[in-house]
Amino acid sequence: MIIDVNKLRQQGKTESEFSFAFTPGRQLTDLPNADIVGGVNVNGKVYLTGKKATVEGVVSFVIEGECSRCLSPARAEVQAEFSAEYSSEAGAEFPIRSGLIDLTDPVEETVVINSPMIIYCREDCRGVCPVCGANLNVSECKCKTNREV
Ligand SMILES: [Zn+2]
Ligand SMILES: [Zn+2]
Repeated sequence: MIIDVNKLRQQGKTESEFSFAFTPGRQLTDLPNADIVGGVNVNGKVYLTGKKATVEGVVSFVIEGECSRCLSPARAEVQAEFSAEYSSEAGAEFPIRSGLIDLTDPVEETVVINSPMIIYCREDCRGVCPVCGANLNVSECKCKTNREV
């Protein structure tokens, strides 16, 4: 996810759209037994001003894994906005190096922050019976006294 800021400047551009399909090089979700599938899509715009380049974009990705209530297959679609300011000045949090900016850090950070802590197979998942372990989406069990309301 590299954007060539020098090239854009040479072309006389002050803004430019970008679109990347990004495969994370490390685990970005803490959710147990779940992972990002199909990579992370990143779309946005870069605005050039003086020594700075401001990036505004949206990351979207899909997490698949076990439902946090009943352990059936579950899936969550996530979309999150991000922005980052790149600078060629020394000590910048997001540096412009050799006229290039790399979106990896802010994008990975956005994925980590916006990864769900729980996912459900469906919104009204009834989970499993705490007594007998029956999947209550599939069948009723006889442990009525312990049922959550
Ligand atoms: Zn479930
Ligand atoms: Zn039961």
